[in-house]
Amino acid sequence: MSRKFIIAIDLGGTNLKIALLTGGYEFKDRQTLRTRRFAQKDSLIQAIIDAVNKIIEKNCLGKADILGVGLGLPGPIDVKQGVVYFFPNIRGWKQVNLKKILQSKLGMPAFLDNDANLMSLAESKLGAARGYKNAVCLTLGTGVGGGIIIDGGLYRGTNSAAGEIGHIPINEEGPSCNCGGRACLEAYIGNDKIIKAARKLFRRNISLEELSLMARARNKQALQLWSEVGRRLGVALTGVVNFLNPGVIVIGGGVAGAGRALFDQVKKTIFSRAMKVQTGQLKVVKAKLGSDAGLIGAAILVKTGS
Ligand SMILES: [Zn+2]
Repeated sequence: MSRKFIIAIDLGGTNLKIALLTGGYEFKDRQTLRTRRFAQKDSLIQAIIDAVNKIIEKNCLGKADILGVGLGLPGPIDVKQGVVYFFPNIRGWKQVNLKKILQSKLGMPAFLDNDANLMSLAESKLGAARGYKNAVCLTLGTGVGGGIIIDGGLYRGTNSAAGEIGHIPINEEGPSCNCGGRACLEAYIGNDKIIKAARKLFRRNISLEELSLMARARNKQALQLWSEVGRRLGVALTGVVNFLNPGVIVIGGGVAGAGRALFDQVKKTIFSRAMKVQTGQLKVVKAKLGSDAGLIGAAILVKTGS
């Protein structure tokens, strides 16, 4: 096992998480900052640089002890060049060669990928998709992200933009989506869409957590709402199963906290609608690594260079 350490960063619209991990993916130290404190692109980049330097110093390490910095980012990335195409939820980022900037300012190798890909890498190597050659991983949140593992490796596609499960259209006509398309899965089952539907149903403000708790307490209306979310997700995944024939589908992210109310309906839909050969060995399971998946995936990216 390498005696070197890895720095992992998970950048979201709300939080910037940074961690120091061993070469065996053990957490040694971690810190969370509020992303919104850094409104401008340059101040956010500087915050990343400062956080990296701080965590190295705090743990009495030198740059020579660090194998590299891995970053999970909330948007499409040109992984080879290390360029951020854009962030849908953080303004001011367009065609930014973050890899180059970080490497020159930090003097150590930097690796970038989008957060859903890194979650998939982590679940595939150390989590719920471990031992499966072919897997599809989803993270259900404000956005619906996905990653594809084929023959044990991440499938990124021609422009490293594969896996956008949230932008599979589930209808011919329907609401327009941030991506420029319409009737995308995300436009029906993104966090804010579920909360909006719940507000309408219960005629008051209601959080996702509360909605999950209500389903656990067998509240009929809450169960019905989750069942509708599960059915829509199941329809999209039926297409994915028929098309890719994965051994496992791993579902994570905040919305997955709904538990059985969601999973039962997802499974029911897939297993009743997908082709029987493809569903023969299929498992649909909850993600194992929770909110650490992005950081672990970023560390794997550094260690394996892929
Ligand atoms: Zn879309």
